[in-house]
Amino acid sequence: MADSDECLFCGIIAGTIPSERVYEDDMVYAFKDINPKAKVHVLIVPRKHYRDVAALAKNDPALLAHIVETAQGIADKAFHGAYRLIFNTGRDAGQSVFHVHAHVLTGETMDE
Ligand code: AMP
Ligand code: ZN
Repeated sequence: MADSDECLFCGIIAGTIPSERVYEDDMVYAFKDINPKAKVHVLIVPRKHYRDVAALAKNDPALLAHIVETAQGIADKAFHGAYRLIFNTGRDAGQSVFHVHAHVLTGETMDE
């Protein structure tokens, strides 16, 4: 069985699990986090399943760059281009879904 078979975010990308879409193109899908930690909290996932950002960076650095570009576009619209970009990597760092996702936090001034 492939990693992606039981993957929540593969289900969201496929549309079998509902989500609030913010942006999509042929490489990525972006949707609202169900438990927002900022006024605007969006998750960006590549359509292709990688378990974490290290695997993505190693196998497809251009796709990682595209995720950053997508985050910038979301923040340009939501908050004059300012944003926090987080990739929790590993269970002990808070990663709970093992399909790489960028947390984009924006829409308000944030503490340090
Ligand atoms: P992480 O802890 O870095 O793996 O992030 C997983 C994120 O996914 C958390 O911020 C959750 O709130 C979010 N999340 C979990 N299930 C859903 C869902 N069905 N729709 C949107 N966001 C979700
Ligand atoms: Zn997946």
